[in-house]
Amino acid sequence: MGCERIDLPDGGTAILCSRGAKSRAKCQFCGLVVHTKLCDFPLLGKKAGKTCSKKMCDRCAAKVGDDRDLCPPHAKAVRDAAVPSSVLADPHPFAMSVALDICEQAGIATAPAFHPRDRADWDEFRRERAAIFEYLGGHPRELAERMALELSGPAPRYAHVGPLFSGAR
Ligand SMILES: [Zn+2]
Ligand SMILES: [Zn+2]
Repeated sequence: MGCERIDLPDGGTAILCSRGAKSRAKCQFCGLVVHTKLCDFPLLGKKAGKTCSKKMCDRCAAKVGDDRDLCPPHAKAVRDAAVPSSVLADPHPFAMSVALDICEQAGIATAPAFHPRDRADWDEFRRERAAIFEYLGGHPRELAERMALELSGPAPRYAHVGPLFSGAR
């Protein structure tokens, strides 16, 4: 979903999205510029009926239909699940539910939650995602790394320590 740019009397600009109030919040993926779009992917469970609505700039958003945009994790999910682009571009509101169903059936998580086992696991996840964003997404390295960091969440503070006793006696 696109947002509208509004010129403010003080000379600044704000972004007005049809689903939200005026906001100059930065893109949640690169953090570099004010967001211009919200992710249109539907949520599951308690939040069913709502959309992901992550804030994105033009560069980080994947435009899949006339007024339909996906955040990087959801763009990846629909790619991984091979959701046909005709479904994504279908203006009917149900099209996104169909896309969600296809992801579910393909076993592709659409609410990615990453729980690193330890610092090394976290580092590996972050490096892998950064490489995906850089080489497959065509983003500059710095941007790819920021996007990967957003996905990885905070670094674990302590390395995971395995059980002292493995249970063998
Ligand atoms: Zn961005
Ligand atoms: Zn999303």
